[in-house]
Amino acid sequence: MSEIILEVTDLDKKYKKVHALGGISFQVERGQIFGILGPNGSGKTTTLAILLGILKANKGAFSWFRNGTESVNRKRIGALLETPNFYPYLNAIDNLKIVAKIKEISDPMPAIESALAKVGLSDRAKSKFRTYSLGMKQRLAIGAALLSDPEVLVLDEPTNGLDPMGIVDVRRIILGLKEEGKTIVIASHILDEMEKICTDVIIMRKGKVIREGKLKDIIQDKEHVFIRSSEL
Ligand code: ATP
Repeated sequence: MSEIILEVTDLDKKYKKVHALGGISFQVERGQIFGILGPNGSGKTTTLAILLGILKANKGAFSWFRNGTESVNRKRIGALLETPNFYPYLNAIDNLKIVAKIKEISDPMPAIESALAKVGLSDRAKSKFRTYSLGMKQRLAIGAALLSDPEVLVLDEPTNGLDPMGIVDVRRIILGLKEEGKTIVIASHILDEMEKICTDVIIMRKGKVIREGKLKDIIQDKEHVFIRSSEL
């Protein structure tokens, strides 16, 4: 039996005049790579920020569950909302030590080494951050999100601006994390990319969920040309 890890009910968010979310609902099962897909401005980042407790919704509710009870500790949710500002003249290890301190990880080195290995940066661990390519910077940011060994990862456009090799690297990392049993909630406006990693998705437009279900079914649907060309 699949286990629900996140339940979102009728979330509504207004920023003064902008009605960013108009009552969205969805569920995420444990172990999924769940896609929140939609064009720019459709409300993806707002949704993630509410789910991470950064923003407050005006209406509606959400719950992170564990074994049927509402108990996923927020510290067990790793987040990548934007490429964080690492220190350019520090190497990856020292940058991650700072993140570990903020996250109050008492014995950080094993977590740092494990995170760097998972994002394929062990061999560049002692290189200064400023020498990293954009793809490596993004992988280090995912590594930082992994430091507390989260059971859920929330990623906003993790391949934004990356070259094709960088995209493949990030995709491989995300698929590897799913293999470990982590649940991944990922927002993106690039349908072709999400097709390669997501199973279940919602498709958002103007703050509403316009489609939900298996991405492969949505794509096969006769309306998919509409979604492919106009929505994302
Ligand atoms: P993008 O990929 O461009 O970030 P998105 O799908 O993540 O798009 P949001 O960033 O959630 O969408 O924005 C949803 C709507 O809310 C947009 O119309 C946006 O302009 C508006 N919005 C977002 N943040 C604010 C804010 N702080 N103040 C006012 N309006 C905002």
